[in-house]
Amino acid sequence: MSVDMSGPSAPDAARNHAARNREYDTLLDAAHAHARAWLADLDERAIPATATVEGIKAVLGGPLAADGADPLDVLDELATGVGPGLIAMPSPRFYGWVIGGTYPIALAADWLVGAWDQASGMRTVTTGVVGTEEIAGEWLLDLLGLPRDAAVGFVTGATMASFVGLAAARARLLGEAGWDVNARGLIGAPPIQLIAGAERHGAIDLAARYLGLGAATLVESDAQGRIRVDRLRDALASVDGSKIVALQAGNLHSGAFDDFKAAIAVAHAAGAWVHIDGAFGLWAGASPRFRHLVEGFEQADSWATDAHKTLNVPYDCGVAIVADPRSVQTALGIHASYLEAAQGALDPYDKTPELSRRARGVPVWATLRWLGRSGVAGLVDGLVDAAAALAAGLAAIPGVSIVNDVVFTQVCMAMEDDSRTAAVSARLVADGVAFASPWTWHDRAVLRFSVSNRATDAAQVERTLDAVRRAVAGA
Ligand SMILES: *Cc1c(COP(=O)(O)O)cnc(C)c1O
Repeated sequence: MSVDMSGPSAPDAARNHAARNREYDTLLDAAHAHARAWLADLDERAIPATATVEGIKAVLGGPLAADGADPLDVLDELATGVGPGLIAMPSPRFYGWVIGGTYPIALAADWLVGAWDQASGMRTVTTGVVGTEEIAGEWLLDLLGLPRDAAVGFVTGATMASFVGLAAARARLLGEAGWDVNARGLIGAPPIQLIAGAERHGAIDLAARYLGLGAATLVESDAQGRIRVDRLRDALASVDGSKIVALQAGNLHSGAFDDFKAAIAVAHAAGAWVHIDGAFGLWAGASPRFRHLVEGFEQADSWATDAHKTLNVPYDCGVAIVADPRSVQTALGIHASYLEAAQGALDPYDKTPELSRRARGVPVWATLRWLGRSGVAGLVDGLVDAAAALAAGLAAIPGVSIVNDVVFTQVCMAMEDDSRTAAVSARLVADGVAFASPWTWHDRAVLRFSVSNRATDAAQVERTLDAVRRAVAGA
């Protein structure tokens, strides 16, 4: 039997190969130059984007041309055209939402992930990146002090990480109630009630929605947004059947942490699965100085966090951790059955919603390898110290008050009244030197600062305070 090898001759193939390599060289060199120009400018450029989406579309859009273009021209057109629409989110004075920066080592590793182009779902196939991600997962469990045999999946963010945790919960709780949700679906299934604090993040509601769990029963929270454990006990007692309790490590506005020890004990006594949304707060576990904030959290059943926030790796990188690997494999694995699950090590696609996915855990490996244990603790401590310095500096500005107990990385300030707060917020954003999130918390207008970028040091805090002083003086 002969194999038909007709097609380009060997010399043609070699020429094509060389041409392809030259194209990579040219384009990657150009991309490198554009990336370096953006990064070099980051600390000094005005933060907000100046173009609207419509403006960007007017420059880069129009009908798709009949014929293609030179790739180097396309890359230049892209970098130039997008420029006015880029917001300096990785700036050390960007405090909006909860937005991390990017360590150079993390970005460099992410570039390699793109170049390697591995569909990273299968353990026996893409061994290099799966092995690297497994180490990253083991290091994370060790650093945070979570159960060593938990399943770790790298997902797009904390919302999907909570989806994974709640999916595992749903599979196990319904399984225990004698209902195979994979076979029978949700219609007619025994009820599951999700219970969460009044100040949970909206990501929990989204995850519940994706899973058909409906709206959570909300439990009153205290002045800092922590779930009230006495009310949680009442809520658990009032619900029949299966229950999931979603707790929080790091309230968006105050940075406050639920009382895990007490809340988990109460929830487990009622037979509930406990999930913790710790998108940024879970990292307190990696700092000897702040580990007390998460005391007892290792007793939970699942945890969600982000690496693209506190760890300062590029988007998109969240981490889903489930104590019982069988439950996540039952929920998400393609060959899943609770009984046959977990015979050996799980494939990545048993622990995340995707089959094909990029190896987004590789930059986590590189960043942890580079920082080491003390480096991660120093990162967390540096963010919290910068938040404390920022809060102290803000409080010293006449008319400014800090409305939360600053225990971690979140600082909310307010002026004498809501209209002054709104005016100061607008002036600060327009000034362009620093960016914070205008928000409403406990029916009061606040300006919220989240210190999540490792480059926010004492000097950057000073420049931020100068900008706020200007905004207050001008408002
Ligand atoms: C950011 C955040 C989320 C959502 O995370 P994504 O990575 O955007 O999906 C959930 N919970 C908390 C507390 C957050 O800060």
